[in-house]
Amino acid sequence: MKKYAFVLISALCLLLAGCGARSDASAARSRTVFAMDTVMNLTVYGGNEDTLRVAEEELHRLDDALARTREGSDVYTLNHSGSVRSIDAARLFARADEIAAATDGAFDVTIAPVLALWGFGENADGQHVPDAGAIAEALRYVGREHVSRGSDGVEVRLDLPAQVDFGGIAKGYAAMQLSNIFSSTITGAVLDLGGDVCVIGKKPDGADWRIAVKDPADGERFLGVLEASDICVMTSGVYERYFEENGVRYHHIIDPRTGWPADNGIVSATVICRDGIWADALATALCVLGAESAETLRQSLAETMPFDYILVTDGNAVRYTCAGFTPEKTGPYSYEQVS
Ligand code: ADP
Ligand code: MG
Repeated sequence: MKKYAFVLISALCLLLAGCGARSDASAARSRTVFAMDTVMNLTVYGGNEDTLRVAEEELHRLDDALARTREGSDVYTLNHSGSVRSIDAARLFARADEIAAATDGAFDVTIAPVLALWGFGENADGQHVPDAGAIAEALRYVGREHVSRGSDGVEVRLDLPAQVDFGGIAKGYAAMQLSNIFSSTITGAVLDLGGDVCVIGKKPDGADWRIAVKDPADGERFLGVLEASDICVMTSGVYERYFEENGVRYHHIIDPRTGWPADNGIVSATVICRDGIWADALATALCVLGAESAETLRQSLAETMPFDYILVTDGNAVRYTCAGFTPEKTGPYSYEQVS
């Protein structure tokens, strides 16, 4: 479980506490859910007794459907039999395919065989540096061309032994599903899915939400605060899951071009985007791409899927493009806004 999640949750609580006087219409309902291997905190304004129960059920349903090694899950069935009829897998793959195309394969859900070799993900076979031949063999099955969708929009097919892993996109999808469930029944919500946050609507007093962005170097601190509404703020970091071998750290974000953990000078990438699925995937992709390509990608998607980022690079320099972001000036960072 991620140590930073708790810090962010407590910070969010502090920030939300400043919401002002609450009438019944603006009363908050909160629920903590453990799903997708993380602690999630849901807060909704408006809604009724059932709102959070239905949301929690949806999170558990998605967890069950998408768990790669849970026998009987949609993804398990796909990876073992080569096909599955699953509306969630079909939707996720459709989005993953667009994102793989946009990022030139930096984000690719067919990275699963390589993740498994390194021992990342569920049911991993011990964490170790694989030999070069095994990586080269696994990379043969990585690529969007190994997955196809049936014309009915429900069937997904896979060229075995290719495998998929939706770990880099599942929380974003969950946030979008919850947002659909809530749509007309609430006035606002904060969905904190283990440190990845989506805010819906505005605060009860009509102001934007304030979202603390965590500091990858120090769990007690924040890089700064972001003010926004109807937005997702998702972070991927090379510090989140890793193992050490002979004094070297190997982390869980894999560069599909090499089969090795991404090594582009990015410590963490926070992406700010209206679409939670893209925010989640792009955070992972920017770790693979590095700072320069991140900026190129941002500009190329400016019309179709606008997003901003806050990158922490080696040496603790921070580059950000987000106008609503106020950096914590006391940190040991140099800030550079990219125009
Ligand atoms: P989390 O927040 O759960 O750590 P991230 O959003 O940071 O997840 O994404 C990391 C996860 O994405 C990895 O654990 C793995 O399941 C998957 N992954 C790793 N590298 C890639 C990649 N290049 N493309 C797609 N998914 C990846
Ligand atoms: Mg991600």
